[in-house]
Formats: sequence, structure tokens, C-alpha cells
Amino acid sequence: MARSLIVQKFGGSSVANTERIKQVAQRVVQTKRQGHDVVVVVSALGDTTDELLELARQISQNPPERELDMLMATGEQVSVALLAMAIEELGEDAISFTGSQVGIITDGRHTKAKVIDINAKRIHDEVAKGRVVIVAGFQGMTMSQEITTLGRGGSDLTAVALAKALSAELCEIFTDVEGVFTADPRIVPNARKLSAISYDEMLEMASLGAQVMQARSIFVAKRFNVPIHVRSSFSSREGTMITQAAKAMEDVVVSGVTLQKDEAKVTIQDVPDKPGMAAQIFRELAEKDVNVDMIVQNVSREGATDVSFTVIKHDLPATLRIARSVAQRIGAGEVTTDEGIAKLSIVGIGMRSHSGVAAKMFEALSRERVNIEMISTSEIKLSCVIRKAHAERAMRVIHKAFGLSKRRA
Ligand code: ASP
Ligand code: MG
Repeated sequence: MARSLIVQKFGGSSVANTERIKQVAQRVVQTKRQGHDVVVVVSALGDTTDELLELARQISQNPPERELDMLMATGEQVSVALLAMAIEELGEDAISFTGSQVGIITDGRHTKAKVIDINAKRIHDEVAKGRVVIVAGFQGMTMSQEITTLGRGGSDLTAVALAKALSAELCEIFTDVEGVFTADPRIVPNARKLSAISYDEMLEMASLGAQVMQARSIFVAKRFNVPIHVRSSFSSREGTMITQAAKAMEDVVVSGVTLQKDEAKVTIQDVPDKPGMAAQIFRELAEKDVNVDMIVQNVSREGATDVSFTVIKHDLPATLRIARSVAQRIGAGEVTTDEGIAKLSIVGIGMRSHSGVAAKMFEALSRERVNIEMISTSEIKLSCVIRKAHAERAMRVIHKAFGLSKRRA
């Protein structure tokens, strides 16, 4: 009978330095000696990726993306080699590979490439020899042999894609935190670790700023039904399983609360109230790759209306330039911005089948005299834009209103 294969990914402070690498090696060897085949994915040591990007900035404000990928991919090459040595020190066979060596084929979009295919043969061959295979996270290669990277946090994607390609039994993501929590424990002290969460909820939470896993990696995990266990590399305690929704999960209305503070609100005043105006504004933003999040258009009075939307702060300068030029062209008024906002969201697949969730959130905020400036909803999510100054207090209030610190039935 074939042995079960587990993909283990180590990132964050679990690979901060060589001492930590030795601890990772012990954990891998332990798994191997329990009778599993193990394929390991590691990210770069500590802040290596940021340090490499800083080097590039010292040379150029606008470096070619191909060369950025060439540069960033070196980070993971260091950590895989060190981990292979550390495992050999413990008496097990190990071999490290770059993404290109194990045939992780991507498209050519440098710094944010998509995985197209993985040729798993090389890995299977090495595993069959009894070796622990260690693969550099975050990187791949195009069909024309150009080195690419998969976007920040991309080692998660490498791990999930490998788990799929190798038909692994489980993809374990080892990180700095104990798992996925009902809210950020630094803001909500009685936040609780969830024992399980669905892909859909995790996808929303990752996109809403819960920094546990790269959002794209969850998307791929959902698509191919790869079971994920997010857990701490510093303890042996169970973390959070991310899987397809179980019936029990749907009985819980809200699973978590998230808070995003990196968005800004832009308002275009007095937009003429006629067809095609919104289309022009948002078409031009999209063409410049500005990702617009929430959009609100007020009721028109006297033939004109205000249009407000939110964008990531990083995109604000570009957004303003575009919004001002469109506003002028279509005969709208002034463009104003507001960086004092925060987005508070609740997420839960139970929201599909329960009513009164929005009312409960609004009431809790109103009791605290927190004003709601914008609202957006999806099937399993409800977001409110509020003043940033009230955001953390509001998060604690909402966490309490939905009873999230209590154990699930
Ligand atoms: N080293 C890369 C980054 O910092 C990839 C990763 O950590 O997953 O984004
Ligand atoms: Mg990193």
C-alpha cells in the first residue's frame, strides 16, 4: 500500500534564522518517522524578501519585473538548502529543489504569476527513494524558462498546488499563530481559535485582511478540494482545518470578524445623473489596474449625485489623478478623499440561511453610537465602513454581539 504523503509548509518566524531551521528539521523528521512521505515547502528566511526588494530600490525606482523575480527567487533558494542540510544532520535523506527544477510551470506575469502546471515526476521519484523533498516556495518558471514569483505570501500557493499535484492527504501550513481566530486576538483578547472553517469563509477572511494565508492559495485549495491544516510551528496543538463546508458549520451564523484599515474613501461630487457616467469612471480606474472595493451612489437631487468608493491606500494617488480627470470630462464637481475610515466585516456561511444578521450588526453599532458610512453585502459577508478612530472598539462590540467568544455547540 502506498504511504500517505503530507505537504508541510513553513513560513513566517518559523524560518526566521538557522536555529529555527533546525527546529523545522526536527518537526519534518518526526513526521517522516511516523511513517509519512513528506514534501516540504519553505519561504525565505525572516525578512529576506523585503530586504531584497530594498536592495532593488537602492538601484532603481522602477526595476524591470523580470529582474525583480530573479532577485526575489534567491531568498527561498537559501532556506531550502539550509533545511536540507539540517535534515541530513538528523540522519534522514533530504534533497532541495528550486521551483523550476521540479517543474512548477507558470504564466509569464512577473511578480504575480499563476501556476499552470506542475510536473510532479521528479518529486515522486525522489520520494520513492525515501528522501524528504524540499521545494522553494513562491517561485516557478515559464515555458520559456523565465523565473517567476507568485505574489507576496506565495509559498502558501506553492504548498497548495503541490498538495494537489501530488494528491497529498493533507497540506499543513505551519505559521506564527495557532490557527484561524474569530477575530485578531491583539484587538479582541477573548477571540477564539476555530477548529474548522470553510474555504469560502477563509477566502473572505483572507481578502478582508486576516493575514493567515495568501488569499489566492485558498482559492486554489477550494477549487481542487485540498484539505488544509493551519497550525503553529511552535506547539503541537491542533490548529484550524480548512475544508468544504460541513453541515454543522452552517448552523453557526457568523464565524469571524475582520477589520481593514488600509482603505481610503474617494468621493466625486455632483456627477451628472445620466446613463454612462459610472461606466466611464470605473472603466478608466480598471484600465489603470485600480481595484475598487465598495461603491455607493447617493440619491440624485437636481440632476446630479455624489459617487463614493473605496480603494487600497496604496492606489490613492493614481485613483485621484484618474478621478479628477474623468470628473472634469463628464462635468462633475470636486473630488475629495478621506483616509480616516476602516472597514469592519462579519463573515459566515450561516448568513446564507439566517435572517436578521444585518439588523443585529447595525443595532450593536448604533448602541455604541458608531456611525455607518457605507455598507456592502455578499452571500456570506457584511461590511460596514466606519470611522477608524472607533474601529477597534466596534470590533470588540460586534464580536460580543454575535457571541463569538463562546464555544460552538
Ligand atoms: N518570501 C515570500 C514573501 O515574503 C513568499 C512567502 O513568504 O510566502 O512574500
Ligand atoms: Mg516571507
